[in-house]
Amino acid sequence: MSIIINGGGITGAILALMLSKLTKGDVEISLIEKHSPYCCDAQLSLNICPPQVIALSRGAYSELIRLNVAPILSSCSTIIKQVEVSEYPWFNKVLIKARDYQLSELGYVIELNIFRKRLFDILCNQSTVTVYCPAILKKIKREKKNNIIILDNGYQIVSKLMVAADGAYSELATNCGMQWFRWNYQQIAVVSKITTEIPHFGRAFEIFTEHGPLAVLPMSNDYSVLIWCISDTRQKEVSIWNKNKFSQELQNIFGWRLGKILNVERRFFYNLWLTRAHSHISHRLALVGNAAQSLHPVAGQGFNLGLRDIVVLSKVIVQALYQNLDIGDYSVLNKYQKHRYLDQCRIIKITDGLVRLFSNHHLPLVVTRKMGLFFLSYSTLLKHLLVNVILNWKTD
Ligand SMILES: Cc1cc2nc3c(=O)[nH]c(=O)nc-3n(C[C@H](O)[C@H](O)[C@H](O)COP(=O)(O)OP(=O)(O)OC[C@H]3O[C@@H](n4cnc5c(N)ncnc54)[C@H](O)[C@@H]3O)c2cc1C
Repeated sequence: MSIIINGGGITGAILALMLSKLTKGDVEISLIEKHSPYCCDAQLSLNICPPQVIALSRGAYSELIRLNVAPILSSCSTIIKQVEVSEYPWFNKVLIKARDYQLSELGYVIELNIFRKRLFDILCNQSTVTVYCPAILKKIKREKKNNIIILDNGYQIVSKLMVAADGAYSELATNCGMQWFRWNYQQIAVVSKITTEIPHFGRAFEIFTEHGPLAVLPMSNDYSVLIWCISDTRQKEVSIWNKNKFSQELQNIFGWRLGKILNVERRFFYNLWLTRAHSHISHRLALVGNAAQSLHPVAGQGFNLGLRDIVVLSKVIVQALYQNLDIGDYSVLNKYQKHRYLDQCRIIKITDGLVRLFSNHHLPLVVTRKMGLFFLSYSTLLKHLLVNVILNWKTD
């Protein structure tokens, strides 16, 4: 019995580890990744590799801990103790503090480059996982009972199931005829590491501006990561700003919450799209992570959602395995697709709704969101509801 996972990004690597643990050696797992995660070391030190940093909910973090990766996870994570949400240039703000909910943290910020590298170290030592890296698929033959693939290095692998974890517009899924709904937000995310006069002390900030949200998340060594969404028409202008000009513009919007912005490292630009595959399964194929859907980063939900997808997919596969069913059978995969549909739609709606609500100048909407933030800042009940949404973690 064998499963191929194409793409060893964070989703593919976690899925490989999850399946290897849950199937206790009863399934051979092949992980195919085109770029070595170790290449990033040199690139990181030269500052030419983007700081891949994401916020994880407490629930998602606990799910990862179950994979016995606590030491490596904690070595590349920073605790979020407080979140401040506001709208530029207004003064209304909502403050959510972990201690108000008797929690030690609201969530975590994970440095993916480091985490992924350490996951690869573990995977390479698992007897039932074979990592093919760097490698790409050259040929796919989809038969009734199996998939047969040939890699560019000549290896041939036969599998009952292929999982596309190779990111947005997955090459594997495209080759299998899958299609995506695509929506261009016409926004760019500018991502950079910054240092500030005042340490972050675990504080995260999200400021909604008319051009898009700006988030500052706490990182290790008193760095913060900046994710600043701007209109794509401004990319050229912003990319030629020198460091001083960029810091000034950032300081204008971010204010003095962390004192003076002392340094802004190299900036990386991401086009922001909503993509969602019309179907997340096909003959002996399942889509996960960004290959299934990719979201605007406004609410930091992309990987949180992707992780719930792979938790369910793993459970469905393991159930089928121990009921002596064919793990690649359409009826098995359909369970995964059905089970995940509502949560995926809900998160897409929330994320997409937030982007539209805050970038809209239509007067009733402007009033609604100002009232919303106002009531949220004063109502304990509403804040509790918001915190429940942030912390909630349900895959059933
Ligand atoms: C600016 C920004 C901020 C974000 N912030 C958050 C956040 O705070 N919280 C959160 O939960 N999410 C966040 N996200 C989303 C999160 O980063 C993604 O959901 C997550 O990284 C997706 O991982 P993935 O492994 O599915 O896809 P990818 O990261 O795209 O990985 C795909 C992998 O497949 C490999 N690959 C591609 N093609 C092939 C091929 N043909 N053969 C073999 N391998 C291949 C690639 O090299 C790569 O390693 C953010 C996204 C952005 C852009």
